[in-house]
Amino acid sequence: MDQHWDVIVIGSGIGGLVTATQLAAKGAKVLVLESYIIPGGSSGYFATEGYRFDVGASMIFGFGKEGTTNLLTRALKAVNVELETIPDPVQIHYHLPNELDIKVQRDYDSFIEQLTQRFPAEQQGIKRFYDECWKVFNCLNSIDLLSLEEYRYLMRVFFQRPLSCLGLLKYLPVNAGDIARRHIKDPELLKFIDIECYCWSVAKADWTPMINAGMVFSDRHYGGINYPKGGVGKIAEKLAEGLEKLGSQICYKSKVSQILIENGKAIGVEIIGGQQYYAKKIVSNATRWDTFGKLLPQENLPAKERKWQKRYQLSPSFLNLHLGVRSSVIPADCECHHILLEDWSKMEQEQGTIFVSIPTLLDPSLAPEGFHIVHTFTPSWMDNWQDLPPKEYEEKKEDAANNLIERLEKIFPGLEQGLDYQQVGTPRTHRRFLGRQSGTYGPVAHYKLPGLLTMPFNRTSIENLYCVGDSTFPGQGLNAVAFSGFACSHRIAVDLGL
Ligand SMILES: Cc1cc2nc3c(=O)[nH]c(=O)nc-3n(C[C@H](O)[C@H](O)[C@H](O)COP(=O)(O)OP(=O)(O)OC[C@H]3O[C@@H](n4cnc5c(N)ncnc54)[C@H](O)[C@@H]3O)c2cc1C
Repeated sequence: MDQHWDVIVIGSGIGGLVTATQLAAKGAKVLVLESYIIPGGSSGYFATEGYRFDVGASMIFGFGKEGTTNLLTRALKAVNVELETIPDPVQIHYHLPNELDIKVQRDYDSFIEQLTQRFPAEQQGIKRFYDECWKVFNCLNSIDLLSLEEYRYLMRVFFQRPLSCLGLLKYLPVNAGDIARRHIKDPELLKFIDIECYCWSVAKADWTPMINAGMVFSDRHYGGINYPKGGVGKIAEKLAEGLEKLGSQICYKSKVSQILIENGKAIGVEIIGGQQYYAKKIVSNATRWDTFGKLLPQENLPAKERKWQKRYQLSPSFLNLHLGVRSSVIPADCECHHILLEDWSKMEQEQGTIFVSIPTLLDPSLAPEGFHIVHTFTPSWMDNWQDLPPKEYEEKKEDAANNLIERLEKIFPGLEQGLDYQQVGTPRTHRRFLGRQSGTYGPVAHYKLPGLLTMPFNRTSIENLYCVGDSTFPGQGLNAVAFSGFACSHRIAVDLGL
């Protein structure tokens, strides 16, 4: 295999793959090095006993047909591959304290009507808050989403869409909670806005950037939530296929052990086993903690990264249960995604909020006939699982799984009786298979920050080294890391003169 490339991408998460495919489509010769046996990272899958489980993401934004925010649709199209998707009529069915039972329908007016019925005194506030989210979304959805580090692009977009740009500038330093409290007074409704944010940003509304909230709270009604036929892992498989068709390459079981630096510039990488590869530009799709903590000498941590690590901390990882259950347990009219929380004070605590995804309601081919997949997960920190002897670790996993199933019996009576398959994953599993520091879901603010203003872009303090993925602007989620991939590839294409 060639040792010299235009660009090397470390990792084949969606952030890495979008960067690689965009650059390959522009004519660059790209090598992707992935430590695992398949592409996708947190959007990968595993298959066993007739089930095909998504390891992480399953509520997928970015597959819309119109506008500019449908970044997954656009990423696949750029390398001439297609993926059939199945529209999900409800984003989430919330089961919250005080019998607060809300379904976020794809149809915006139905959702607003439902929320208003529960909080009639807040009719105006509800409308004003979600309308303000639409303002953000409409600005985003009218411009090409590329690198904010590229001056000529910024000028072009500004002259093409001055009002959209000014609109976005206004919201860039603002958090969703600030806007929510401007319009809404009811404490229970404010808590609902908190969990609306928490379920994808793992932070309360006060700490969740308004740009991200505007995107999520509107796109679910615009492009909608759409599940890839064949499972979420298909997205990465298709991108990898498109990449290779263009003559670039992806190598699995190729864990990068260090980024090679010469005269302060990144010049290549070394993989475990000692093989070295060289490129004009190196992109890391590992988290910033892994990139600067493991792939580069720590004693030279750039001041910019030190500052970032003070502002952002590791969000929790998850305790995951991948279950195969008899179809009789899941009602036919059940929604695909659920969130269960019994006590508001536990929302952000260890194993407080429970997330559930039943993708076989949309694509039955992912399980044997007569069975469903129930993927359920709840936030959990590495500290609770670290350094346990094997027997204690297994017992703790078993206890935690039983506890989750018992709590879920409230919304799925008979779940335990209907179990056919069970696999428990912990933060240790995420660290091992996804290569993420402490198995983290991504960065969360250490203290209240001004919206997205402090989130780093793709360039780093080391010349020719770029970062992409959820620890770069604009954060976690498949469509967000796709945005980061579009931005990263755009910046590199300009730097390479492509
Ligand atoms: C349980 C769970 C549920 C989620 N649910 C959703 C959801 O419903 N919707 C949604 O949009 N998002 C969801 N997310 C978030 C989403 O999956 C992530 O934000 C996104 O996939 C991160 O993509 P990434 O490109 O940043 O990196 P990753 O997916 O982390 O990929 C990085 C890749 O780099 C590889 N790598 C790392 N280090 C090296 C190295 N040294 N050498 C070679 N390869 C390396 C890894 O093996 C991995 O394949 C969920 C995440 C989890 C964990």
